[in-house]
Amino acid sequence: MTHVAIIGGGPGGYEAALVAARHGAEVTIVERDGWGGSTVLTDCVPSKTLIATADVLTEVAESLELGVELPSGVHADLAKVNRRVLDLALAQSSDIGERLSSSGVRVVRGTGRLVEGTTVEITSADGPTETVVADAVLVATGAHPRVVDSAQPDGERILTWEQVYALQEVPEHMVVVGSGVTGAEFASAYNGLGARVTLVSSRDRVLPGEDPDAADTIEDVFRRRGMDVLGNSRMASVEREGDTVRVTLTDGRVVEGSHCLLALGSIPNSGDLGLAENGVLLDDAGFVRVDRVSRTTAPGVYAAGDCTGVLMLASVAAQQGRIAMAHVLGSAVHPLNLSEVSSNIFTSPEIATVGLSQKKLDEQGIQADVAMLPLAANPRAKMQGVRDGFVKLFARRGSGTVIGGVIVGPRASELIHVVSLAVMTSLTVDQVANAFTVYPSMSGTVAEVARRIHRPE
Ligand SMILES: Cc1cc2nc3c(=O)[nH]c(=O)nc-3n(C[C@H](O)[C@H](O)[C@H](O)COP(=O)(O)OP(=O)(O)OC[C@H]3O[C@@H](n4cnc5c(N)ncnc54)[C@H](O)[C@@H]3O)c2cc1C
Repeated sequence: MTHVAIIGGGPGGYEAALVAARHGAEVTIVERDGWGGSTVLTDCVPSKTLIATADVLTEVAESLELGVELPSGVHADLAKVNRRVLDLALAQSSDIGERLSSSGVRVVRGTGRLVEGTTVEITSADGPTETVVADAVLVATGAHPRVVDSAQPDGERILTWEQVYALQEVPEHMVVVGSGVTGAEFASAYNGLGARVTLVSSRDRVLPGEDPDAADTIEDVFRRRGMDVLGNSRMASVEREGDTVRVTLTDGRVVEGSHCLLALGSIPNSGDLGLAENGVLLDDAGFVRVDRVSRTTAPGVYAAGDCTGVLMLASVAAQQGRIAMAHVLGSAVHPLNLSEVSSNIFTSPEIATVGLSQKKLDEQGIQADVAMLPLAANPRAKMQGVRDGFVKLFARRGSGTVIGGVIVGPRASELIHVVSLAVMTSLTVDQVANAFTVYPSMSGTVAEVARRIHRPE
């Protein structure tokens, strides 16, 4: 029987453990902080639960034009919201722990470390140190928020994204530093929850690296909803003076707020794991180098998830873990294909993408036809008072195969699935256009955009 040892119980680790156990392997998984990892306890699940409340408030606030008479003072009780957030995260973590145990996985709470080849040493907080001699090891230790000396979080007013759930009241003025995905999501959420929000972005627009039309749309919405978006503004330091935080920018300007949320990116948890000593190559930023089947440079040692920096998404972490197990256990292996990954930015409206972006098409010199339509022209959108958003599709010139798409709109995360299926199965724009859509529905715009790309022979 193959024995697999897994370090880290986030989606990279626990999904792999479940797959390996199902395929008859003996599996030991060690987790330091809690089952489900940062995904469940501090990152993805808590933030999306918070955003669920913010979305309701945003919808309510914008429902006047639908004839809704609002009682005054609709607001969130943040203490209650955050209690719900944390309860939900803990419940999910406990479900994952139970699922692992009931699937026959040996679960151990403690800190794992590679000591030699594929042998892992586990130190538990209160128990003895044990050594697990495995045939293969999967490192899935995740990442943690980057902090800098000049902006030290205090857990009360200067916060990382892991610390915001201790807030008992909606901040009066939240200054969010960093306009990548995490910064944009929290800025959108606190704006929806009723806080004054200033978003400090070091680039000329928010969400650098994302589809420019999507980024422009979200920035317009942010400004319309009263958010201060400071472009080309790099944070130099953050200090607290009593109940005030002072964010000093490199050009000398100072932004004062009641709270500051730092969204400065992530650092891989790859130190003190015995990796380099055992032949596992790390890059300059500390990310574990892996190939498309999750192999590191050391025989029998695999890595998955945020510690590899391949694409920091829970879905990608889980897929990397499953691929690693397929490789270890001799099942059919489908190497990771990033051009099929769909992802979503949970701002309001959401931004969902799949497949190749315009940037990638340009870099790879792929000839593509592009069409884009605003959601505002869609009958369902009009009925629902949806003003912002669009559907954009990319199709390979000649064959008309759908190779990418961007959807901005409410629940774009759900709507993107049809485009994801089209990319995955190489459907043509005609096939997408000819599939029936419900009238009236937002998906009608997906079909209409596909129709726009069709060119008669
Ligand atoms: C605010 C925020 C929101 C996000 N939202 C989304 C989203 O909506 N959708 C999405 O797909 N992705 C989202 N992500 C990204 C997602 O959270 C990560 O990609 C995901 O957590 C990666 O999973 P992982 O298994 O690699 O790591 P983690 O989930 O971080 O799990 C790693 C685990 O390893 C443990 N560990 C570390 N070292 C050791 C050791 N030596 N021994 C034992 N255990 C150890 C840690 O305690 C941790 O529990 C979000 C990220 C952030 C920051």
